[in-house]
Parts: sequence; structure tokens; C-alpha cells
Amino acid sequence: MKLQILGCYAATPRTMTNPTSQVLEIKNHMFLIDCGEGTQVQLRKHKIKFSRINHIFISHLHGDHFFGLPGLISTFRLLGREKELYVYGPKGIKEAITLLLKLGDSWTNYPLHFHELTNREPEIIFEDDKMVVETIRLNHRVYTNGFLFKEKPGERKLNVEAVEKYKVDRAYYQNIKNGKDVIMDDGTIISNAKLSSDPPQPKSYAYCSDTGYKPDIVGQIKDATALYHEATFLETEAHLAVKTKHSTAKEAAAIAKAAEVGKLILGHYSTRYKSIELFKEEALEIFPNVVLADDGKFFEF
Ligand SMILES: [Zn+2]
Ligand SMILES: [Zn+2]
Repeated sequence: MKLQILGCYAATPRTMTNPTSQVLEIKNHMFLIDCGEGTQVQLRKHKIKFSRINHIFISHLHGDHFFGLPGLISTFRLLGREKELYVYGPKGIKEAITLLLKLGDSWTNYPLHFHELTNREPEIIFEDDKMVVETIRLNHRVYTNGFLFKEKPGERKLNVEAVEKYKVDRAYYQNIKNGKDVIMDDGTIISNAKLSSDPPQPKSYAYCSDTGYKPDIVGQIKDATALYHEATFLETEAHLAVKTKHSTAKEAAAIAKAAEVGKLILGHYSTRYKSIELFKEEALEIFPNVVLADDGKFFEF
């Protein structure tokens, strides 16, 4: 999985910082997650082909997470896009975008599908044979979902030496990868365990922005390979975190620790602080594997 951070700062765009947006590459998909103002410029800057984006996931309807969307949708039209585009986001997103397109008499010439979310429980919103996307219910001032991107377990790995040793016909290879035993012509059964090994552990990425401290998500994101969790404030401003339904770096780390994730990626920093290193220092007191998101930063896991 490859994660390109396009923007990861709270609220207003500034010369050097962008509001939230990121691109996740997983199993041949390029998913755009949130689309704050300036996202298309950031996509250009990081040489991400617009044509590879077919699915956009919007966590909530605060401007710093979706004001870039109408611009991007219009640009797709100007570029002559023909492929379908799927947008997942809270109820109201369709009305907001279509009103803007209607006022400008600039309807898309490609099929634009909105998948509006209203569920108060986590739900599967995208699935194919290799992966699945679930919503994570968050606690923010407006209806907000995080997203959990999960690979499905792959095929078992064929043990080439073993199949040659037992003289297993090639025709059985796919069945072996699917976990089946082999019955030879003389009736002997060769167990699957002798002919194949476990596939690599499926990876997962949990995206949680914006939210107040919400420990009941821990079960759902348990053992995630990587967790992006917002940390708008430090503990010194914990009262503001409660008031605005955001988290502190310490709270993000507590979620990462309880969920035993592989790596915690912090983001959505308030621009009031001198250095984002302060967020890392605070989180490291609770959880050992903390990295800082920053605009333009790239992660592979
Ligand atoms: Zn935000
Ligand atoms: Zn928000």
C-alpha cells in the first residue's frame, strides 16, 4: 500500500500548508481520501494522474475536507473524462455539488455517481475480489466517517519444490492455491499444507479524521497495519479538543496503543503550534511507532 499525503493541516490553507487530502494506492486502485481546497494543485505537484482516480471518499462536509471537490470534478470534465467517477460522502454532498454544476451550467460529460452515507453503524461501502472499504463511525461536530481499507487474504503460495517432488499435475495448481488437498491417481491424499504455505498477512489502513477521542473504534481497527489519526491539539489545549470534537496527540496515541496498530501517522495539526515535532513527542510517551504526516510526504506499508 502506498500513501501520498497531499495536505494534513487543520482549517485554513496557508502558503506552506494544505487542508486534508491524501491518495491511497491499494490493489490497483488510486483512492482519493478527502479533498480540501487546493487538492488538484497538489495532485499535479505530485504527478498523480487524474485519470487513475475513480473513487473519492469524503469523511465529512467541513470545508477543509471537501471544498476542493467541485473544482476537481469540473477539471475532470475539462480534461474530457469519460470514465465513471464514484463519490462517497455524507448525505447532502450530492445536492451541494450538483447545485454548483447547475448554476454554472457545467454538467459533467462523464457519469458521476454519489453514494451518500447516513448509517450510524460501520458499513461496507466498496468491495471487489481483492479488497474492501468500511466506514468507521467518528465523533465530530457534524456527521463524520473514517474509512478502513482492508486487503482480503490472498491465495496460498505454491511450494514449487513440493509439487515437483510429489509429481502433482499443473492442472491442480490453482486448487492448491485455493487451499485444497490433492488426490493422486492411486488414491493417496497429499495435504495442502505440504504443497503450499500461508499467504502474506493482509494489510489494512485506517483513516480517522476528524474526531474527538472515541475508544469504541478500537475493535474495528484492531491490528491495522497503519492508522492515520487526527491530532489537532496537544494536551495543553485538551479543553479545546473536547469543545471542538477533535483529538490531542496523546489521545491519538492511546487509540493506536489499544488497537495495537503497526504504525501511527499523525495529522490535522492546528497551525497554532511552533513545530509539529511537539505532536510526535507527546504521542511517543504513549505509543512507540509514531510518524508525522506532512504535505508531500509519502508512506509505504
Ligand atoms: Zn478538519
Ligand atoms: Zn471537521
